[in-house]
Amino acid sequence: SGKLYQFMMRTKQPSGLVSNKLYLVMDELADLYGNGTLRLTTRQTFQLHGVLKGDLKTVFSSVIKAMGSTLGACGDVNRNVCSPPAPFTDRPDYAAVAKVSEDVAALLAPQSGAYYDVWLDGEKFFSLAREDPAVTAARLDTSHGASFPGSPEPIYGDLFLPRKFKVAVTVPGDNSVDVLTNDLVIVVLSDPATRATTGYHLMVGGGMGRSHGKASTFPHLAADLGTVAPADLLAAVKAVVAVQRDYGRRDDRKQARLKYLIVEWGMDKFRSVAEQYLGKRFGPPAALPPWEFRPYLGWMEQGDGRLAYGVYVRNGRVRGEAKKALRALVERHDLPLTITANQNLILRDVRPELRDEVEATLTAAGLPGHETLDPLDALSMACPAMPLCGLAIGEAERASPDIVRRLRGVLDSLGFPAAERFVVRVTGCPNGCARPYMAELGLVGDGATSYQVWLGGTHGATQLAQLYAERVKLDDFEKFFTPLFALFKEQRLGPEESFGEFTSRVGFPALHARQLAD
Ligand code: SF4
Repeated sequence: SGKLYQFMMRTKQPSGLVSNKLYLVMDELADLYGNGTLRLTTRQTFQLHGVLKGDLKTVFSSVIKAMGSTLGACGDVNRNVCSPPAPFTDRPDYAAVAKVSEDVAALLAPQSGAYYDVWLDGEKFFSLAREDPAVTAARLDTSHGASFPGSPEPIYGDLFLPRKFKVAVTVPGDNSVDVLTNDLVIVVLSDPATRATTGYHLMVGGGMGRSHGKASTFPHLAADLGTVAPADLLAAVKAVVAVQRDYGRRDDRKQARLKYLIVEWGMDKFRSVAEQYLGKRFGPPAALPPWEFRPYLGWMEQGDGRLAYGVYVRNGRVRGEAKKALRALVERHDLPLTITANQNLILRDVRPELRDEVEATLTAAGLPGHETLDPLDALSMACPAMPLCGLAIGEAERASPDIVRRLRGVLDSLGFPAAERFVVRVTGCPNGCARPYMAELGLVGDGATSYQVWLGGTHGATQLAQLYAERVKLDDFEKFFTPLFALFKEQRLGPEESFGEFTSRVGFPALHARQLAD
């Protein structure tokens, strides 16, 4: 027909771990077949935008042969498993997190060979063959109805899941991945002295997506399910997935995420049905310390004499000189990388003597150290939106640098210190890919040049923001935010009270009243 169809390709790599080879392949594919940029996503994966239909096979097979995968990166299956990008080699608890992420990803990977038929002409590639035998056994275990005997898809069956399914794995306290926004959260519990894994604390029911004008759709946070012993983890994951598979709504995609089932049933009923699939009771929830956000930016000691360097990548878009500089460093020094859930990039295995070279190379290419950035920028995120996402109603990635600059301008005009910081997130539609409903100030496109304003998330991503205003015109942002920030300045309890904590403490009526008065 002469039409040129273009696609977005998304990879999948548990914990955001990217081998040296995969990075170099992705970098090259972006130039050869994409739009010349690499997009780091909020689920620690790559997206290549602008891949033409005729090039898909070359691109997919290149990724797979570089030991990458795109299998299950989209669709009604388990998506990429997220975990903190902790580069520490001397922390058994983080090593356990990485292993669990990999095992859960393998357990819930689609098993049909169709993927390999399509992209590699049936050549079954080695990535799946390497999985832990315990994972294979767990997948095939048919006890309590959690798997279908003899099916090519023992867990998903013929119908797969009602909707996408998201898992995060972490250690107590480390909320660098917005854990509470996931369908299933696995917290690795360890002995404080030996750091050996003693069990897992599970939470279920998180999810961001909603639709404008539909009150029956809403963001929701994961809540405690209970604990399991180390030997029961994979069976417990299967039990949770099987409950959603068998009882999640299939008649309405907007009600199909696990969170709606849990809201409808209540956690007690959900737990009891999951226990039937598991064949035993969950233990009581563990007492966890408060969640805190850890940015993983700048230099970090890995614990093996090498360093890791967290590079701030604005909105996850790797392009131009920055892309060339990253490629040069990664190639020259054989560095593996980690993509963070904040769309940043960590260079790992850096020899200490390369410290100056790494900093100088990146700074010269427009990637200065995070300590030189406006802290509002360092904490902000935006989704791709226009022109790359078909669901976008408004701008996000392209507009957000200017939005953040203008918010800083308002803060400056009111005399806030340059170090004042809070979490700003912008998305082009209510789907919420950049998790705006966890932000202290979330902007969700609801028109070509207007946004919903969500307020009240926290720095540690522990509480949902609430819808404060709709159809706020981009042009009016100074007028709109000046009274809110002014009230914050006058009435905050002290410098340690952040904007999100403030707005949720004083409540929306007080904020509205101030806006009307000004
Ligand atoms: Fe697209 Fe909406 Fe996701 Fe942004 S939030 S990437 S506009 S689906």
